[in-house]
Amino acid sequence: MAQLKPSDGFETLAIHAGQEPDPITGAVVPPIYQVSTYKQDGVGGVRGGLHAGVTSGPGRWQEGYEYSRTANPTRGALEECLAALEGGIRALAFASGMAAEDCLIRTVCRPGDHVLIPHDAYGGTYRLFDKVLAAWGLVYAVRAAVAEYGASLIWVETPTNPLLSIADISALAQIAHSAGAMLAVDNTFASPYLQQPLGLGADAVVHSTTKYIGGHSDVVGGAIVVSDADLAARLAFMQNATGSAAGAFDAWLTLRGVKTLSVRMDRHGANALAVATMLTRHPKVAEVYYPGLTEHPGHEIAAKQMRGFGGMVSFRHADGEAAAIEMCGRTRLFTLGESLGGVESLIEYPASMTHASVVGSPLAVPPDLVRLSVGIENRDDLIEDVRAALA
Ligand SMILES: *Cc1c(COP(=O)(O)O)cnc(C)c1O
Repeated sequence: MAQLKPSDGFETLAIHAGQEPDPITGAVVPPIYQVSTYKQDGVGGVRGGLHAGVTSGPGRWQEGYEYSRTANPTRGALEECLAALEGGIRALAFASGMAAEDCLIRTVCRPGDHVLIPHDAYGGTYRLFDKVLAAWGLVYAVRAAVAEYGASLIWVETPTNPLLSIADISALAQIAHSAGAMLAVDNTFASPYLQQPLGLGADAVVHSTTKYIGGHSDVVGGAIVVSDADLAARLAFMQNATGSAAGAFDAWLTLRGVKTLSVRMDRHGANALAVATMLTRHPKVAEVYYPGLTEHPGHEIAAKQMRGFGGMVSFRHADGEAAAIEMCGRTRLFTLGESLGGVESLIEYPASMTHASVVGSPLAVPPDLVRLSVGIENRDDLIEDVRAALA
């Protein structure tokens, strides 16, 4: 394969970064290396047999392999691709988005540290801080002045799940750094095609690759991407020590999804804007949350730091909770289900589904809220489906 150039665009990197033809067979996509261990050429000798040192790429074949918890060629291909797409120096692929979050936080924080978390975030992230990391000794606050609170980490999601709020990544990076804290950004809703937080000053990016990066609702996974070599090494140590890495088949499926990320995101965004615009004019809709709408409070910042506004739309049903719940069971094409970011449209009721774990907390969501993951089906069909369910 032709060597990648620094000027190569996102769409090129998605298809080629980390994905040079297999050096042994010439296979044009990285095979599923469904293997746990690797032959060693003598005790203390070269690891990973024939593959060691075959290409000059940053990492995939270079180090050699000894055990797949530590490194696996298929996972390595995905990691190299994700690092390129986020503009980082290294990515690590995990069994889930939650495993990635847990690894990042427990690598950069110590028991007793203070962390700032957003008032609007994925329910599982709040649960991790509130039910798991608090018991480990981490102290979190939803709102506090960074310096006075002595925060060592600021955690942010943008756009947020499920209210599509926007945070200014560059501004937060400055605030964090001037107080000696790190900034971690959950970039799941945007995907690296729409937003690259490392370039805006973030120290670490986290993904649930289950969502847009995988894109086909057929695999659960997570990733961390960083631009600092020392942090990357500490994360790799933690990932290996605690064993949360993605399996080879999951990494391969995710890599298959990544190739079409740019094409899918363009369509998700166009469809979501059309659905959101229809909702703003609908009498049964009290409020629409989509950062692509000019009246959205975060629209200007979103336009500044994102290439597009993504495929997620939330809205409040004008007739309240019961009507919101009822409409979730009445769509034809939007499937009632948790998760998001797949090619197929999904509808859900956050208060008792994805965000059940934040009920009664500062992160609780409105009871009349409906969340749509707008897929890449025909735009008119999707609009007609939501309209009919609201009628
Ligand atoms: C789904 C999700 C997660 C958790 O990822 P899993 O792959 O389900 O473990 C984290 N953050 C956001 C924004 C999500 O939507």
